[in-house]
Amino acid sequence: MARIDLQNLAHSYVPKPSGPGDYALKPLDHVWRQGGAYALLGPSGCGKTTLLNIISGLLVPSEGRVLFDGRDVTALPTEARNIAQVFQFPVVYDTMTVYENLAFPLRNRGLRGPAVDARVREIAELLDLTPDLKHRGSGLTADAKQKISLGRGLVRPDVAAILFDEPLTVIDPHLKWELRSKLKALHRALDLTMIYVTHDQTEAMTFADTVVVMHDGAVVQMGRPQELFERPAHVFVGHFIGSPGMNVLPATVYGRSAHVGGHEIRLARGYPPIDAGRVEIGVRPEFATLAPAGSGVPVRVRRIDDLGRVRLAKVELAGIPMAATVPEAMPLVGDEASLTFEREMVHVYADGHLVEGEAA
Ligand code: ATP
Repeated sequence: MARIDLQNLAHSYVPKPSGPGDYALKPLDHVWRQGGAYALLGPSGCGKTTLLNIISGLLVPSEGRVLFDGRDVTALPTEARNIAQVFQFPVVYDTMTVYENLAFPLRNRGLRGPAVDARVREIAELLDLTPDLKHRGSGLTADAKQKISLGRGLVRPDVAAILFDEPLTVIDPHLKWELRSKLKALHRALDLTMIYVTHDQTEAMTFADTVVVMHDGAVVQMGRPQELFERPAHVFVGHFIGSPGMNVLPATVYGRSAHVGGHEIRLARGYPPIDAGRVEIGVRPEFATLAPAGSGVPVRVRRIDDLGRVRLAKVELAGIPMAATVPEAMPLVGDEASLTFEREMVHVYADGHLVEGEAA
């Protein structure tokens, strides 16, 4: 496994880019630590595949360098990078047994004998494939085949990194959860650097210890799942992660107060005057709670959705729609109500970017 350095990396598919809009991957400078579990998360077209292809060696970046453990691999092809890849669709040899399929990447690298056998059995055990070892690939379900593909990716102990490109797309929905948890456990057991591309926030948040959120060719935040949830660095992260996403309200902010349509919302931090085209506050529905009229910021209730574990209110604050949590015991009479906010969880954004503010 390896530490991966992405140095001043950027990519444009246009020969002579004339501005940021011409870049599929805008400049980034990151160190991805050895043994980390990373997820590249973002909507279609945000640049995930471009970045993955640069790391795997399918694409030479138009700018910058990629280092594996300090060695410049930018111009090296995939075969020379010592990586394993697992794709959306299973890559399994139908005429070989499951055992032979798993042993193939090891034998291909010149390994023979008991070392191969021990590793194949270890991986088969971790993936619950032991009972299938003697079966041929041809008779297996799509789920089982994808498990073998995962196994083939994981079997080599010496790889610099394993790259997963939306690997659970063909997996039956009820098995997805199981396989995701299994991958996480495998990561802990095998201590490998893993990079997992997905547009599914649940997949990213359950698999990764570091989620890299991409938007419009740029990495907008890199952090632990909890950080992304509690402290989105960009309004896009707030929208994209969470269901429903973070509420974003136009505001004026000064000192420890935000004003939204004439209503004051107290903030946990102090802010100097913000010089930006767009100033907003962001608060997740989980941290905005409905209360009886007169006990907080006045809102009009438009709808209550009972989601089973939680009730969610669609409200309007100064005419701006937002979502809030309804406490279990709260009776609802009419459409007049208030909101109370968890102060630490109300964030300020200038032109989409989080403004830090000053603690007391
Ligand atoms: P998806 O999830 O749909 O695969 P993605 O996040 O992986 O999307 P990329 O495939 O990296 O995004 O695409 C990023 C941008 O680069 C898009 O605007 C896309 O149209 C463009 N792009 C991708 N491949 C090429 C190419 N070979 N030539 C020109 N433009 C490309």
